[in-house]
Amino acid sequence: MFKKLLAEASAKNATLVAVSKRKPVEAIMELYEQGHRDFGENYVQELVDKYEELPKDINWHFIGTLQRNKVKYIAPFVHLIHGVDSLKLMAEIDKRGQQNGRIIDVLLQVDVTDEDTKHGFTPAKLVALMEANEIHRLAWARPSGIMGMASHTDDEAQLGNEFQELKDLFETVKKDYYDRRPDWNHLSMGMSGDYQLALKHGSSMLRVGSLIFGARD
Ligand SMILES: *Cc1c(COP(=O)(O)O)cnc(C)c1O
Repeated sequence: MFKKLLAEASAKNATLVAVSKRKPVEAIMELYEQGHRDFGENYVQELVDKYEELPKDINWHFIGTLQRNKVKYIAPFVHLIHGVDSLKLMAEIDKRGQQNGRIIDVLLQVDVTDEDTKHGFTPAKLVALMEANEIHRLAWARPSGIMGMASHTDDEAQLGNEFQELKDLFETVKKDYYDRRPDWNHLSMGMSGDYQLALKHGSSMLRVGSLIFGARD
């Protein structure tokens, strides 16, 4: 399954992030030995433990809900933080990036669903955020795109609409703020159940776990 997924992602120039949360380091090493370098984790402590144990050229993506008081643990090494949902969290990432002397790329989480369990900026709030100055003053936390999740549904028409809304928003920001955000390159959307649809609607980064590693306990 991994090879097929990788081929489908590569055909669309999308990065495949293998979501290894709650999977052992052996499972990660199996893909690493095939040349894979992008892995995603949801929990700070688990990510730090795996970082310490595994080869240092892995690109670690943090894809979970990040508490501000935990940013400091991943700031020294994290490759990309998906799912940043407030300016306060951005400011903390900026502070820790500066302390570590490294620019940290982040994706802003956008919620286009009606589900209470999901969070993130509404499209209007994201545009307002890009329009204001605060976010552009942060030199060490670099917004480089959008992370989105579609609704938990089998309704392909609805999923397609949501992915398209994310894609349109991504392109609008790219066009309108290119001078301030030349690194706006990533549209992270699509998981095991909906990655093909996400690719069809322009995803540049898939986050796939169970389809690669099997179901989690
Ligand atoms: C767990 C998780 C994934 C991967 O989910 P699968 O359905 O196992 O592919 C992707 N994105 C986020 C934010 C996750 O928490």
